[in-house]
Amino acid sequence: MASLFGVAENLQEVKKTLPPTVTLVAVSKTKPNELLQEAYDAGQRDFGENYVQELVDKAASLPKDIRWHFIGHLQSNKVKYIAPFVYLIHGIDSFKLLQEVNKQAAKHNRVVNCLLQIYIAKEESKFGFSAQECLDMVQLPEFKNLNNVAICGVMGMASNTTNQAQLHSEFSELKQCFDALKVFVPQCSIISAGMSGDADIAIEHGSTMVRIGSSIFGKRNYQ
Ligand SMILES: *Cc1c(COP(=O)(O)O)cnc(C)c1O
Repeated sequence: MASLFGVAENLQEVKKTLPPTVTLVAVSKTKPNELLQEAYDAGQRDFGENYVQELVDKAASLPKDIRWHFIGHLQSNKVKYIAPFVYLIHGIDSFKLLQEVNKQAAKHNRVVNCLLQIYIAKEESKFGFSAQECLDMVQLPEFKNLNNVAICGVMGMASNTTNQAQLHSEFSELKQCFDALKVFVPQCSIISAGMSGDADIAIEHGSTMVRIGSSIFGKRNYQ
């Protein structure tokens, strides 16, 4: 039987393209709860959102065993709203933000999983650390005092381009950064890389977690 919105079918198609070792985060930003529920009913448990208020609202009304991933740009003053329940924050892009996550997680007696966002795109608008900044940060003496965050790996967004060679080079840079980071933070195991348009290339370069939105939920309409 066909599903109401086609989400279950899309999900199945996307999963066919992923090796079993790669985690699929269904990126549901701007999409109504009905579509997320359909993905949930088809077995999906990892969902990614970009906006704090939207994430808080969705988490309140959807099933409690969903693992919520925050994949957008996170402002320090908004960490407190997601700290009680977020499963993985993908976009840690400063030491100050990491300290704030640690502080808010401590208030809830939690250890919040975090990825360090690495700047790999040849574009002005993307956030993140350079590989060197990332390695410098994890060697700061204060870094060792952060007991309420777990650094699980890296996240990267490639340039919005169809240039395959460039995508290969950017994702390969992310993999190198991950390997270097692992020397200092051995428990790192996640490379969050790849979206609807470039997941195959990201996986070739070691991605363990893809963030896919439009291939599952359809195109987004921004007003
Ligand atoms: C929106 C978004 C995605 C998903 O993009 P699609 O092209 O719809 O798959 C992945 N990662 C981040 C950080 C995003 O903001």
